[in-house]
Amino acid sequence: MKFDTLLIHNGHECDKTTGALGVPVFQTSTFVQTDVNAGQEFDYSRSGNPTRKALEDTIALLENGAAGYAFGSGMGAIASVLGIFDTGSHIIVSEDVYGGTYRILNTFYKRWGLEHTACDTSNIDTIKKAIKSNTKAIFLETPSNPLLKITDLNTALNFAREHDLISIVDNTFMTPLLQRPIELGADIVVHSGTKFLGGHSDVLSGLAVARTEKIGKLIYAVQNGFGAIPGPWDVFLVLRGIKTLKTRLETSQKSAAVIAAWLCGHKNVDSVYYPGLDSHPGRDTHFKQAAGAGAVLSFKVKTKEAAAAFFAKISLAAPAVSLGGVETIASYPVRMSHAGVPVDERERLGITDTLIRLSIGLEDAGDLINDFDCALNQS
Ligand SMILES: *Cc1c(COP(=O)(O)O)cnc(C)c1O
Repeated sequence: MKFDTLLIHNGHECDKTTGALGVPVFQTSTFVQTDVNAGQEFDYSRSGNPTRKALEDTIALLENGAAGYAFGSGMGAIASVLGIFDTGSHIIVSEDVYGGTYRILNTFYKRWGLEHTACDTSNIDTIKKAIKSNTKAIFLETPSNPLLKITDLNTALNFAREHDLISIVDNTFMTPLLQRPIELGADIVVHSGTKFLGGHSDVLSGLAVARTEKIGKLIYAVQNGFGAIPGPWDVFLVLRGIKTLKTRLETSQKSAAVIAAWLCGHKNVDSVYYPGLDSHPGRDTHFKQAAGAGAVLSFKVKTKEAAAAFFAKISLAAPAVSLGGVETIASYPVRMSHAGVPVDERERLGITDTLIRLSIGLEDAGDLINDFDCALNQS
């Protein structure tokens, strides 16, 4: 079946017991046991819940993995996946990973003895230099946030396989509609389901998909042990969001391409970062591994004051944290997603106080351009 069909027909489109054309919200903590000596599929909602299972099966199907796991947030998923490694292990991580991932690696996981080396994973030589005798995994994000840097998944995942490393890809920006890392050789895919999968800025969610049952069991042990699980209502919202993923993301992506091209020609814009632009570094690599450029783009204005004026003036786009919703959101990485990254490190990565990130929603592209034009002509 084609991907569009799988979004709607994923095996859970009809409740077998009632015929309900929608996954019931099983708002229960526990399950009556018909025989206390025999195991049964569901016994306690931290360990498993039928509503959650529908989402877990769905994301596993869409990412083409063996098993899926749902969490209360993207960070819940990432923290739980990192929990499968032993003290004394080392992992290689993209230097511009999501700020929250950077933060937990540098605080909690460092304290608990999981070492890491952050490096430019778009360059295979840098990855090769980062490997150590205790390296167990590589954590990639492509396109990265907020500069949409591209890592060649084939090269990096081959390297991981040759060195027996568990490869993890944060696929939040692309979703399985545009990029399926497991099909390219990744062992684990993680998501913030808060973004495009949920899609309506109304729910926090996280997901992890394992290529094999064996890796799945490791993740399940942390999910069940730490309990960073979502409630059934939140799961229901993500399941509902996934049904319209293709329609939403393709519309937003189309507008993002128009807006990126328009920004390139604006006199008050210094540079534009969008994998769909011919000028974008790694564009060809990106289109070898992904079916589209996505709906997130970043750009730099000329001064910090111009950035402040932009945020003060925009009226359609919401100045806010997050992305992937039906509403267009403008973020200020230095104060929001990357506020936790030390200033000199930020500057080195190019995450400056003139950088603005846009997540394009479902408004008319022309209306958004008018809004941005007014805001850019402020100073
Ligand atoms: C938002 C985000 C996360 C974290 O997800 P939460 O749902 O906010 O916990 C992780 N990775 C990426 C790429 C994100 O955009």
